Amino acid sequence: MTPKDTLGRPMRDLRISVTDRCNFRCVYCMPKEVFGRDFRFLDRGEILSFEEIARLAAIFVRLGIEKIRITGGEPLIRRDIEELVAQLARVPGLNDLTLTTNGSLLTRAKAQALRDAGLRRITISLDSLDDEVFRRMNDVKFPVSVVLDAIECAIAVGLTPVKVDTVVRRGMNEKGIVDLAARFRGTGVIPRFIEYMDVGNSNGWKMDDVVPAREVIATLGTQWPIVPVDANYYGEVAERWRYEDGAGEVGIISSVTRPFCSACTRARLSAEGKLYACLFASQGEDLRALLRGGASDEAIAARLGTVWQARDDRYSEIRTSNTPSGAKVEMSHIGG
Ligand code: SF4
Repeated sequence: MTPKDTLGRPMRDLRISVTDRCNFRCVYCMPKEVFGRDFRFLDRGEILSFEEIARLAAIFVRLGIEKIRITGGEPLIRRDIEELVAQLARVPGLNDLTLTTNGSLLTRAKAQALRDAGLRRITISLDSLDDEVFRRMNDVKFPVSVVLDAIECAIAVGLTPVKVDTVVRRGMNEKGIVDLAARFRGTGVIPRFIEYMDVGNSNGWKMDDVVPAREVIATLGTQWPIVPVDANYYGEVAERWRYEDGAGEVGIISSVTRPFCSACTRARLSAEGKLYACLFASQGEDLRALLRGGASDEAIAARLGTVWQARDDRYSEIRTSNTPSGAKVEMSHIGG
C-alpha cells in the first residue's frame, strides 16, 4: 500500500545521489570557498554500493515510487555508473529512469552506454550560452561548447526528450534567457528555467538575486507567444509552457515565488544512504545502518513507510526572506 504523508502526498519520485563530489563549483550550489581542497567528501566505504542502491530502489518502488532520477554531485564522476543504470532499469514496476548531469563527461560513448543500460532520458545543466558567463557560474572555467556537444550526443543516442536546466540568478545570467530558449526552439529539447533557491547553507542566497518565474515568462513572451499547458503528471516539478507557433515547450521551476510543496511527491536518497523528505531538510533517516545491519526488506519497507507518513515538509511554502538558513543539507549532497 502506497504510504501518504501528513499532507496526503504519496511517494512517487525518488532522487538518488550517487556521489557528493562534482567537477564543477557552481556558485549557487558548491561555492569554491566552502567546497575547497580541505572539504571532506564522503569516502568510498561510506557511500552505498550499486547493489545496495538497487536493493533500496526495489523496496521504494514496491512502496509506490514510479520514477527515479540519478543525481549527485555529478553522477558521471562515479565510475561505471551505467552498471547501476542497468540494475535500476531491471527493477520491476519502475516507469521512468532519468539522470541529471552537468554534461562535462557525457561523451557519445558514455551516452550510448547509458542508453544501452536502460536510461530513458536525461537532463543536462547549462546556465548560459555566453561562454564567459558560463565559465564564471561553474567557476572552473568549463566551456559551453563541451556541454552543447553533450546535448547533441544525448539526442543522437535517443536519451530524449533532453531537458536543459538553467538556474537564473539576477546579475549573472538573466540576460541570456532568450538566447537559450532560441537555441532549443524546434529541436525537441526542453529548456527549463529554475528560480535561484536558498539551498544548503553556502551560496549566500538573497531574495533580490531571484528572477521570479513571472519575469522569465514575460521575457519569453515578448519574443514568442507562449501558453501554459497541463502537467504531464501529479507532482511534476516544472510548469509547462508551449510556444503557440508549435516550436516546442519550456519549463519553469518556481520554488521561491510559486511553491509547489502541496503536490511534492519527492524523496531523496543521499550517497551515504540517508533518506531526506525535502530538498531543504536538515535531518535524514539512516537507511545504510539498516542495510548493513542485516535488516530484511520488509523491515526497511516498514521504516520507509513510517518516515514518509510522518512527513510534513513544505519549506518553500513557509520560506520568507528572513527564514534562518540553519543547517540545511547541501544540495550537492542530495541532488536537486
Ligand atoms: S520545498 Fe520540500 S516539500 Fe516543498 S517542493 Fe521542495 S522538496 Fe518538496
